[in-house]
Amino acid sequence: MKMRAAVLEAFGKPLVVQELDIAPPREGEVLVKVHACGVCHTDLYTQSGADPSGYFPCVLGHEGAGVVEEVGAGVTSLKPGDHVITLFSPECGGCIHCKSGKTNICLKIREQQGKGCLPDGTPRISRNGEPIRHFMGTSTFAEYTVMPEVALAKIDKSANLESVCILACGATTGLAGAMWKAEVAPDSTCAVFGAGMVGLGAVVGCKLQGASRIIVVDMSADRLEMAKQYGATDVIQAGPGVDAVAQIVDMTDGFGADYTFEATGLVSVMGQAVEAARMGWGLCTILGVAGKGEKLEIIPRFLITGRKVQGGSFGGAKGRTHVPQLVDMYLEGKIDLDGFISHRLTLDEVNKGFDLMEAQDGIRSVIKFD
Ligand SMILES: [Zn+2]
Ligand SMILES: [Zn+2]
Repeated sequence: MKMRAAVLEAFGKPLVVQELDIAPPREGEVLVKVHACGVCHTDLYTQSGADPSGYFPCVLGHEGAGVVEEVGAGVTSLKPGDHVITLFSPECGGCIHCKSGKTNICLKIREQQGKGCLPDGTPRISRNGEPIRHFMGTSTFAEYTVMPEVALAKIDKSANLESVCILACGATTGLAGAMWKAEVAPDSTCAVFGAGMVGLGAVVGCKLQGASRIIVVDMSADRLEMAKQYGATDVIQAGPGVDAVAQIVDMTDGFGADYTFEATGLVSVMGQAVEAARMGWGLCTILGVAGKGEKLEIIPRFLITGRKVQGGSFGGAKGRTHVPQLVDMYLEGKIDLDGFISHRLTLDEVNKGFDLMEAQDGIRSVIKFD
């Protein structure tokens, strides 16, 4: 079948929208008609060439939502017409990690996914017979994608796919980080570093958990204003000469916050998030993704005096379990996803999505397919 998709042809070059071939789903696979897809920082990171494990040609995109078009042999949990959110972080339920309940890092398709293939070691995308690799196991900057059944979360059909697609990565990372990874306790104090998509998701998660104080740090006054609308009780505008850690310690009776979240991907900010966590039991959760090879320095005294540090890919969310729950909370009016979507683009405007992100214009651009 023919489809239009945005292909990374070379690092640092704009994506090229073109017609490709997509093969039918094989055993355990599902063909999804993509309806909407957010443009996320990880797409830009790979496009730029900064990711040493990146490759091309491939179809980028990993924040997708769509409708099941066709299922391969052996697929039991999905059928044509089901609405789904694509998961770069699958949940097979059967591997040693999934069974442990301790982590969301499913091992089932990990190796081939990292190579840009489906679990059988081959891609389904091609161009005149030349294989084109998948990206993050999703490749949703495309009209269609073929994905393993275990990497699709079935959601309530009444949810607008254009709104909930951002739960495929950014929004869930923040929300789940606060709700399920850190398990923020009621009446606690929280500090969130970074008020982009992930940080704002964390603010909402902290509020839903009943935090009494949510302090948000960001360099942008606009983003801090937005953080207030989403539940921040205090904001700190970061910049030269501003000691955000000292201000947070001051605001929390001289101890630091019960929970801190890092949502910038900058190791210097990660260090601040550790230091702003409360002596005795403060829990710092790292949600941002640092560049490969970068190192986080922590003074051991911060740990020996009781602070804890953890991280969570996708905020620790178990995709097939937690994402449908977040969609339900959106439908119940508990999570305002629409407010995060600042720009709506067509597939042909995908590169504009990168430009907007680099300019920090808005929170999220979403590509809407016809
Ligand atoms: Zn992402
Ligand atoms: Zn698994």
